Formats: sequence, structure tokens, C-alpha cells
Amino acid sequence: PSGDSDDPLESHAVAASGSIFGQALISRALRNRVDYIDTDSCDAGGEDSFFVADIGEVYRQHVRWKLNLPRVEPFYAVKCNPDMKVLRLLARLGTGFDCASKKEMELVMGLGVSPSRIVYAHPCKAASFVRYAAERDVKKMTFDNAEELYKVKRYFPDAQLLLRIVTDDTGALCQFSMKYGAPLQSVESLLRLAKELELNVIGVSFHVGSGASGGDAFVDAVRNASKVFDQAASLGMTLSTLDVGGGFSDDNFEDIASVLGPAIDAYFPPSVRVIAEPGRYYVASAFTLASHVIARREVPQLNNIMLYLNDGVYGNMNCILFDHQHPVVRVLTHGSRFMYGQPDNCSGPVTASVWGPTCDGIDCVTNECHLPYALEVGDWVYFEKFGAYTMSAATGFNGFNSQCDVIYVCSESGAASLLEEC
Ligand code: PLP
Repeated sequence: PSGDSDDPLESHAVAASGSIFGQALISRALRNRVDYIDTDSCDAGGEDSFFVADIGEVYRQHVRWKLNLPRVEPFYAVKCNPDMKVLRLLARLGTGFDCASKKEMELVMGLGVSPSRIVYAHPCKAASFVRYAAERDVKKMTFDNAEELYKVKRYFPDAQLLLRIVTDDTGALCQFSMKYGAPLQSVESLLRLAKELELNVIGVSFHVGSGASGGDAFVDAVRNASKVFDQAASLGMTLSTLDVGGGFSDDNFEDIASVLGPAIDAYFPPSVRVIAEPGRYYVASAFTLASHVIARREVPQLNNIMLYLNDGVYGNMNCILFDHQHPVVRVLTHGSRFMYGQPDNCSGPVTASVWGPTCDGIDCVTNECHLPYALEVGDWVYFEKFGAYTMSAATGFNGFNSQCDVIYVCSESGAASLLEEC
């Protein structure tokens, strides 16, 4: 550490071997917890599923962002995972926040984050939420239709508006363009209306869909956004901010950054401020979920076993329905064997279907997986990269736990000391 910098990223070195260290910390935390739980004597729900979160991983993702997209300011999408330690760390690292509701704005401002570091990134807002944003001076907000402009005129005429435009999100895991984003043909009339209403349009936003397939959709959207800047200029309006939304993931980040960064530079002068709303990218890989095998049934005619976990589609595996995920079941313990990180813990000769705890047949984690052992009641399984759109949408249906425990580890000394400061 140089000691004289205010920038936390400059003053803390990132350990190259952080993720290997992280795996060791996660392994220890998982083991401690499952060893500690005695299903013969624990309280009801004492064996509930739980997360282990490596906060150092969130820190590393931030460093990676800064290295690859230095011009783009991340505004973390709170909806993806509103874990307080994640929010605190990102607040301390100086990111902004994308909030979609009063509660999300409240959460973030409760950490001392200035309203100027929030984008209220929802093009169709409740009037009362717009009033709340006005009271709390959360000025930046998106719109994509005329009604929203009248609403903003009425409740928050000083808002700083970003016109969300439609994108080609056909390659993305989760698509939004059927619901949000102004078609390019309607841009001119929206800009004219905003001008007539004397509203302050500061820029353009878009979202290419969550889990975007690659950089092409970003480049296309950046090009379209630059056309909107030109249209606005021809109406005498000077736009100053481009918001490139979310869509980044751990797997595709460098691919996207390598075309997005140059496209931004090609279409927008340095005077234009560029922000983004990444969610999944920051948190997916940081969280591991452990779940308990609470029941089991043999299906001899199918040479199959049915395993019932205490977490499922109504809980953290809601990502199967809402986020189009196919969670990979890995064996954490079998009897006294602890199997975290072993290569064959998600493959093998035993065919199983895996189910959640609720009464509903839709509550199926997977119809078929192949495990190294015929797991027994009392064994544990785990799911890696489970931090995005999991706990944030878990329900308490059937009275099962909707908010499970999170055990925090930190594989980066920089992140650990930042968290201590908060
Ligand atoms: N911004 C908006 C407006 C969104 O709707 C979403 C996801 O739903 C995000 C950002 C975060 O997207 P991602 O997790 O793909 O980065």
C-alpha cells in the first residue's frame, strides 16, 4: 500500500491467487458449518440451506471492471443481490447504485451513499416513488414513454432524465425489450415532448438483456444511443450521459469490454459521462449455496433416486424459473466424506432427480443429474456461482425459510479492511 492515496483500489494490492485462497476459505466455512449441525438435536430449521459469500470476489470483480472499462462508472444493480455487506463494500469502493424502488433507494442511502450516486433505473415508476425520489433528491431516473414524462413533470420537474431506448436482446438469457425501451421511431417525439415540458433530459440508457451473449448488442446499442444524442442536439438539447446498463457476466466480461470500450470512445467524446448498471457480474461468483438432503425416495423401476432438499424453486433456486438457470448439483458431504471442490462431485453413476421442499410439483431443481454416490438423508449438496438473482427473489412459500444465513469470508485483504472501516 502506498498509504497516500484516497483510492482504495490503489492502496490495496489484489492477490493474484485470490480465488484459490477463496476456495480454501469457502471450503473451511462450509465444513465448519455442516460439521456443527447435528440433525438429531438442532432447532427446527437448524439444517436450513445457507450461503458462503467470498466478499473478496466482489472486490476482485471491481478491480477487473476498472482495468477493462476504465471510462465506465459502475452503478451496481441492487435488485441482483441486496446483501448488505456487498452494498457496503461497493459503497466504500465508490460505485454508484442502480435502484428500482423506494426500498432499494432507502437501503443504499441508509449506508450514507449520496443520492447523486443513485440512478433510479426504472422507466415505469409509481407516482409515490417519484415523489419519494424528489424528496430525497435522487435526480437521475430513466423513462421510455410520454406518460412517464407527464408524471415526472408533475412530481419531480428537476429530475435528470435518461431516455431508455430499445435494444436487440434476442441473444440474452433474460430479455427486457418486450417490456421496456423506447423504439427508435418514438425517440424524436419523446425528446420534443420533454423539451416542451421543460424537463431536463441528460442522456440515454439501454439494457441489452441480462446474461448478454456477447459484445455485438452493446456496440449496436451504443451506435443507436449516439444517434439519439445527435437527434437531441438537432432539437437544441445537449445530452451529457450515456448509461450502458447491465448484461455483463463473469464469463463474457472481457469479450464485451474489448468491443464496448472502443465503441464508446468511437461514438462519444470524452466529455460524455458513461455509467453502467452491472448486477450479475459483481455477485454471481461470490456466493456458494449449501443445501441439505431432507428426504429421499427410491424409484427402482427407473433405477433412480429422488432427493428432496430444503431449498428449491420457491427459495433460492427461483433462478431456475426467473433467471433461466440450470443449477449443477454437487456433492458436499456423503456420510463422513467431505467433497467440496472435488472434480467428480457433480458426475458419476447414480441417476437422481432433485426436488425442493414445498408441496408443489413445479418445485424441481433438476429432473436428472448424475452423482458419484447415492446420497442419503442427512447429506449435503452445494451450488457454485449462486449469488445473482437467487436470494433476492426467494419466497417464504409453505412457510419455508426465505432468507437463509450468509457466512462471509474474505479472500482479499483490501476488501477485508475496507469492510472493517464501514
Ligand atoms: N439495470 C436494469 C434496468 C435491469 O433491469 C437489470 C436487471 O434486471 C440490471 C440493470 C442488471 O442486469 P445484469 O444483472 O445483467 O447486470
